[in-house]
Amino acid sequence: MKLKIMEVKLIAFVLLQAVTVRSQVNPEMCRYPLGMTGGQIQDEDISASSHWSESTAARFGRLDFDNGDGDGAWCPDIMSEPDGLKEYLQVDLRSLHFITLVGTQGRHADGMGNEFAQRYRIKYSRDGSSWVGWHDRKGRQIIEGNSNAYDVVLKDLEPPIIARFVRFMPVTDHSMIVCMRVELYGCEWLDGLMSYSIPDGHQMIYRGLDVFFNDSVYDGASAERSELTKGLGQLTDGTWGLDDFLHSHSYNFWPGYDYVGWNNRSFPRGYVEMIFEFDHVRNFSSMKVHCNNMFSRGVRMFRQVTCYFRSGSEWEADPVTFRPAVDRVSQSARFITVPLGDRTASTIKCRFHFSDLWMLFSEVAFQSGSAVYNTSMAPRDDPTHKVDDSNTRILIGCLVAIIAILLAIIVIILWRQVWQKMLEKASRRMLDDELTARLAIQTRAFSFHHSSLSSESGSTSNSTYERIFPLCADYQEPSRLIRKLPEFSQSTERLGKLSKGNKAFAAGGSDGAPHYAEADIISLQESSDNSIYSITAVNMNFFAGTDSSMREFPRQKLTFKEKLGEGQFGEVHLCEAEGMQDFLGEDLSIEGNNESPLLVAVKTLREDANKNARNDFLKEIRIMSRLRDPNIVRLLAVCVDTDPLCMITEYMENGDLNQFLSHPMYFLCLSYTTLIGMAVQIASGMKYLSSLNFVHRDLATRNCLVGKKYTIKIADFGMSRNLYRGGYYRIQGRAVLPIRWMSWESILLGKFTMASDVWAFGVTLWEILTLCKEQPYSQLSDEQVIENTGEFFREQGKQVYLPKPPCCPDRIYKDLMLSCWRRNAKQRPSFQEIHAQLLESLA
Ligand code: ADP
Repeated sequence: MKLKIMEVKLIAFVLLQAVTVRSQVNPEMCRYPLGMTGGQIQDEDISASSHWSESTAARFGRLDFDNGDGDGAWCPDIMSEPDGLKEYLQVDLRSLHFITLVGTQGRHADGMGNEFAQRYRIKYSRDGSSWVGWHDRKGRQIIEGNSNAYDVVLKDLEPPIIARFVRFMPVTDHSMIVCMRVELYGCEWLDGLMSYSIPDGHQMIYRGLDVFFNDSVYDGASAERSELTKGLGQLTDGTWGLDDFLHSHSYNFWPGYDYVGWNNRSFPRGYVEMIFEFDHVRNFSSMKVHCNNMFSRGVRMFRQVTCYFRSGSEWEADPVTFRPAVDRVSQSARFITVPLGDRTASTIKCRFHFSDLWMLFSEVAFQSGSAVYNTSMAPRDDPTHKVDDSNTRILIGCLVAIIAILLAIIVIILWRQVWQKMLEKASRRMLDDELTARLAIQTRAFSFHHSSLSSESGSTSNSTYERIFPLCADYQEPSRLIRKLPEFSQSTERLGKLSKGNKAFAAGGSDGAPHYAEADIISLQESSDNSIYSITAVNMNFFAGTDSSMREFPRQKLTFKEKLGEGQFGEVHLCEAEGMQDFLGEDLSIEGNNESPLLVAVKTLREDANKNARNDFLKEIRIMSRLRDPNIVRLLAVCVDTDPLCMITEYMENGDLNQFLSHPMYFLCLSYTTLIGMAVQIASGMKYLSSLNFVHRDLATRNCLVGKKYTIKIADFGMSRNLYRGGYYRIQGRAVLPIRWMSWESILLGKFTMASDVWAFGVTLWEILTLCKEQPYSQLSDEQVIENTGEFFREQGKQVYLPKPPCCPDRIYKDLMLSCWRRNAKQRPSFQEIHAQLLESLA
């Protein structure tokens, strides 16, 4: 009987899995080399406008494919084209692909060549006849390419491209011959959507703020700026909007950026019509539409959608209509799956009916059967065919389900425990593989120059399943980049030696070695050998165990108000906490907050979090429970008796400092004194942490919160968790280390001290005084940031410092900021000194 219940559950599970297979592309996963390097792209599919000589023909333009045949790259005959700007290397991928990344390399030819393209543009086409010039989200067409003949330079395409044909067009001023080797990364575009036509999105004014819902990356035509036709854009860029449409995934864009949205008043018929054109006739099972549902601001998902189908020239008479269940409770953005009843079409027209003043979409995806019909044999005209086909599919589905169930039962019963362990190991291995995969391309290119690395190039695989993982802008994996510095690429032996002491390089290899992030607090003392550091835990007692004063709060007394944000662990919600004042007793009077019920921020561990994430979450609680300072976010209580684990912290009304400063609303009204006042508070919080010997490791504006009257508190004590352990952080495609905020010794030697926090403070101060307009060293690529770190280490005067922010007095820049970035950590000021200096500057 027990087995039967389990069986039913499993069937349900398997069927559910089968039904919910993601059709929409996830750009974070869709990063496979498409076959220039691996040879899956045939020579005849690589062509060019011209070539310099037979030995530099198009077919040699494969990234890192120097096989002795030819000259090792494609080089155009720039003399044949007077302005040289129309030369291109064209790749035909044979079918539509979602392309997220491109890689380029120059002509090295075993040291004989020194030609490369410093800059290039990309054009693409879905049908081979109409071509579109790619540009980034800010409209820039030129991509910075190579600076030498051997290194591979990878560039994320933001927005990604959906195309079959791609052209690389070197931009040259004729002063040098250019040669290129290229690779494309992405995955097949299974939707088959060639274009959509929609009315362009509208503009909303929300509390005086301009919110733009236009389709800003649409690559088709725009008639009178209102009808968009023959293109793809934000609805297919793989980026889903956040619950709060005012916020976007990137801080650098305007409110509403991630959504395309329409106002009901402009549509007298009460619906928005969209037409979707596909590559050929397909059999559609469903459509997924990602909608916003922030009804408190007049936005709701659609009330009803009616879709019409066309395989030839006429629309079929019987449309499919679907009404999603109304949700008056949750304001979360979500995917709505619209069943399309296996209808056959090459064009679909859908009318989405408003149910409120606004309707906002961020993504539309289609699921269509792999069976492709051409118009002449459309199954809707042939009932026998349809029945046969659906029977076969049901049969295959059942067989697959039964096999899956049997396998699952065997695995679950026999291997439950072993399996879990294996999974843990596998995820760890995946991490290494992924790193090796990424390194493989780079090391192979590099090995021409530094033969000492040749042993590593042996680990290269040509598999199509090597994925290049994305790294978010603020956090990078430095070890892959560090290997490029001559001092750190000499031998793996040296890396091993370093990793023994400081453990920073453990991510790159040496198995079993603990990683530096495993110690809560580290104090690194230089030993006689300059390159080896020992790690000792300081004040471990201080952070060991949970503070007895951190009590369990009854979770039923928390009332959800709205979602504040999303972090690595899960979501952060604004809640009312009934009776919190009594719960905390006189303690709360420090904050002078007598509102009842009290508003609090509740950080919840996501339900699917693994053991590592759970431990790290508890560790953050342990650390925070011991910290008590006006400029440190205070942990008020916890809910850890049952799942999901929650930490309840004081609510900071204005969110994180980065978002706050970069918000257009505050652009004009923040005075210099207010900004320095914020820095003073951060310095004060850090002074407190340094008095405890506590190293924060991730000080940045994004990790400071803003309350009433510009109160600033330091938050996010998550860096004390082990970033390298398990697959948790990596699988999310996120964060490794914040290299742009890190001192040279943290990056190169894995040394995290109060002095490296001081370095990060200097960068944070720079962010504040530049109103977080851009990332630190925004003109440098990640590789160049690491190269610059090498210059700090070498100290030959070639290191680049962050520039003086406009309106920043000389004494703040020279005497304070630059002193935070001194090479010798001992010569950097302490937080006590920084605090005093900032206060003095205000006097
Ligand atoms: P992460 O761990 O990724 O740094 P968090 O989980 O700490 O992020 O927080 C995610 C977001 O939630 C923050 O960027 C901020 O906007 C919001 N948030 C977190 N804590 C608070 C708080 N106490 N008050 C207000 N907003 C908060």
